[in-house]
Amino acid sequence: MGYEPNAKTAEMAVQLNAFMQEHIYPREMEYNHYMDDDANAFTYPSWFEDLKQKARDAGIWNWFLPAEYTPWSPGLTNLEFAPLMEIMCKVPWSQQVFNCSAPDRGNMDVLAKYGTPEQQEQWLLPLLDGKIRSTYGMTEPLVASSDATNLEVSIVRDGDEYVINGRKWFSSNIANPLNKFMFVMGKTDPTASRHAQHSTIIVPKGTPGCRIVRTYRVLGSLHSPGGEGEVEFKDCRVPATNLILGEGRGFEIAQGRLGPGRFQYAMMFVGMAQRCLDLMCARVQQREAFGEKLMKKTSIQHDVARSRCEIEQCRLLVLAAADKMDREGAKGARDLISMVKIVAPQMCETVASRAMQAFGGKGVSEDLPIGEIFLHARFCRIADGPDEVHMSQLGKWTIRDAPETDLIVHNVDN
Ligand SMILES: Cc1cc2nc3c(=O)[nH]c(=O)nc-3n(C[C@H](O)[C@H](O)[C@H](O)COP(=O)(O)OP(=O)(O)OC[C@H]3O[C@@H](n4cnc5c(N)ncnc54)[C@H](O)[C@@H]3O)c2cc1C
Repeated sequence: MGYEPNAKTAEMAVQLNAFMQEHIYPREMEYNHYMDDDANAFTYPSWFEDLKQKARDAGIWNWFLPAEYTPWSPGLTNLEFAPLMEIMCKVPWSQQVFNCSAPDRGNMDVLAKYGTPEQQEQWLLPLLDGKIRSTYGMTEPLVASSDATNLEVSIVRDGDEYVINGRKWFSSNIANPLNKFMFVMGKTDPTASRHAQHSTIIVPKGTPGCRIVRTYRVLGSLHSPGGEGEVEFKDCRVPATNLILGEGRGFEIAQGRLGPGRFQYAMMFVGMAQRCLDLMCARVQQREAFGEKLMKKTSIQHDVARSRCEIEQCRLLVLAAADKMDREGAKGARDLISMVKIVAPQMCETVASRAMQAFGGKGVSEDLPIGEIFLHARFCRIADGPDEVHMSQLGKWTIRDAPETDLIVHNVDN
């Protein structure tokens, strides 16, 4: 068993790396500084659409969409896409350039998998085209949303429409200037069994009764151009045809969305951590302290070595998850998907922290992307379900599936 890229993926990696070198790395910090300036809140730099077009013309577009979604998918398996995702994520914002960014990635998955032909025509095609952006709204301010059975936003049928009431928050991408709709997961039948009470519906931007109450900073950042926001629904009416898949199917949709999403998300951290390690290695070869290069210090060598081990462990785990997903679907790969969600952000947080240390002051300054990567890794231990929830789930599965073991341990007499 091995996870070397096949010839097709290796060729695509060469093309992607060349695009990154020519168009993305030279803009890496320019983009970050643009987004850090509040005067540019929730806008894109003027050159951004041109860059998207270049990526599209080069055919580096929608690579994330698994092969089963013909005719829209470029035809990559999860295992083929994984190493390409790593390359893109060395500069996290470049995912948008290649139309491979969250939450749109997962939303396109949902529409490709569960959407009606009309929903696909109206929402999926412009998303695949990169013309619009979107939001996925599960989390609510008033309930512990890591247990999604708690979600309270109500979605009530009234003739040909559904009426939505309640509040969502941490709705990513809500302030994006290209945002045109939001998926809302809420309760359609409080009397049904726990996992059949919720449904998912499309709320187009500008629908009366749907209002962005506020956007807010997360660890000091507005996360432009998408942002995080709180959204209020007050007798908000949408056509019944906006419901995805049917009443009571909200959990099924959330699970279907999160499978491929989580391995892609984990690979993002491998890419970001590798970028930190690459920068760290370059720095310690140049910088001298107390009469020798930093690279001569044992503690630095150990930090580099540990980081390399941890990145490679995580990379292999993500590839294993992607491979199993290709062979057995998201359900068959669920243990591995949970593992990568637990391991990857923590690994990246640790590697980024070591890189910061090796850089000294510059490591925490806005001159480098390391600080931002560190923060991103930290909040992603909460986003998409906190670490503890995934660990509890994985722990339960592991204990349940453990082989029967004789508890009588036979000691060897001396
Ligand atoms: C930057 C960012 C972007 C986000 N984007 C989105 C988005 O686009 N759409 C969306 O719907 N949501 C989004 N979220 C929200 C995120 O998914 C939720 O914050 C997360 O699921 C936790 O829900 P909660 O905030 O209600 O925390 P709670 O459910 O209140 O949990 C609080 C804490 O309790 C602990 N805890 C919970 N369950 C257990 C357990 N079983 N065992 C032990 N400890 C436990 C954990 O430490 C957890 O962090 C985003 C969050 C962040 C930070």
